[in-house]
Amino acid sequence: MLMRGALRMVSAVYGPRLTVLIFHRVLSEPDPLFPDEVDCARFDQIVEWIASWFEVIPLEKAIAGLKSGVLPPRAACITFDDGYADNLTNAVPILKKHDVSATFFIATGFLDGGVMWNDRIIESIRQTNLSELDCSWLGCKKPIPVATVPEKRSALAVLISAIKHLPAPEREDAVERVTSACGARLPLDLMLSTTQVRQLRSADMGVGAHTVSHPILANLQLNRARREIADSRDTLEAILGERVGLFAYPNGKPGIDYLPEHVEMVESLGFDGALSTAWGANRYSSSVYELRRFTPWDRTRLRYSTRLLSNYISKQ
Ligand SMILES: [Zn+2]
Repeated sequence: MLMRGALRMVSAVYGPRLTVLIFHRVLSEPDPLFPDEVDCARFDQIVEWIASWFEVIPLEKAIAGLKSGVLPPRAACITFDDGYADNLTNAVPILKKHDVSATFFIATGFLDGGVMWNDRIIESIRQTNLSELDCSWLGCKKPIPVATVPEKRSALAVLISAIKHLPAPEREDAVERVTSACGARLPLDLMLSTTQVRQLRSADMGVGAHTVSHPILANLQLNRARREIADSRDTLEAILGERVGLFAYPNGKPGIDYLPEHVEMVESLGFDGALSTAWGANRYSSSVYELRRFTPWDRTRLRYSTRLLSNYISKQ
C-alpha cells in the first residue's frame, strides 16, 4: 500500500507517468551459469508486486493514452524482447494467473529453431566436455579453463564481451569457432516457433517487431536497417494475419545502438510506437517512438519498489 500511495502522490504532483518493464527470459529453473536470470518463482513474485502497485495495461492502450493525454494513474506495461520460447511456456501462465497482459518483441530470423549468437556461445560452453578452450585466435595468451561452473561462468563473460563488438561477419566466424571447438548440439526449441507466436496472440498478449537478425541498427547502412525493421514486421503480420504496430530497437541504447535516423525510419514505416532501453518513466511529452524501459534487479520487495519509485520520479 505504501508503494501505491507514493506512486499516487508523485503522479498527482508531476502528472501521470508510464512505467515500462523489460524482461528477456523466464527460466523453468534457476541456471547455475546465470544465477541472476529471472526464473518462474521470481517472475511470479515480481508480477505479483507490479500488479499490486501499478495498473498494468496493454502497451497499445498506454501509447494511445500518452498520445491523447489520458493515461491512468500508476500505469505500467510489461514487455519481453527477443522471442524466447519460455516467454510462452513459462511467462504467459504467470501473467494469466495475475490477470495482466504483456507485449513480446520478436526477432523473426530466429523463429522455428534459430539461436541468437550469444546463446550459441552460452550453450557451447555449457555443454562442452573440454577442460580448456584455445582462444589464441581471439588474442587470448593462455587457453581459457571451461571445466567447472565458475570457470564456465568467467569464460562466458570473457568470450561474450570479446565477441560482442566484432563486425557481424567476424562475429559469426568467432561464434562458429567456439561452437565447433566445443562440439555442442544447439537447442532447436530455445526460441518461439511460428505456432507459438500465434498462441501468444490467442492468449491475449501483444506482439511487436524487433528486427529480423537482431543487429545493432547504428552499424548498418540505412537501407539494410530499414529492411530489418520492415521485414520483421511483415513476417509477424503474415503469421498473425493482422497489423503489427509496435517496435523495439535491438539492444536499445539511444545514440549507441540506434540513432535519430532510425527513429524517423520507424515512424515513417507507420509504427504506432517504439521502445528503447533507456531508463526512466514516460510522460505526455515523451516521444512514443523512443519510450523508456526499466527493470529493477533487486530481490527484496523493499529494494525493488524503492528502485522502481526512483525510476518513476527521475528527471531523466
Ligand atoms: Zn533484443
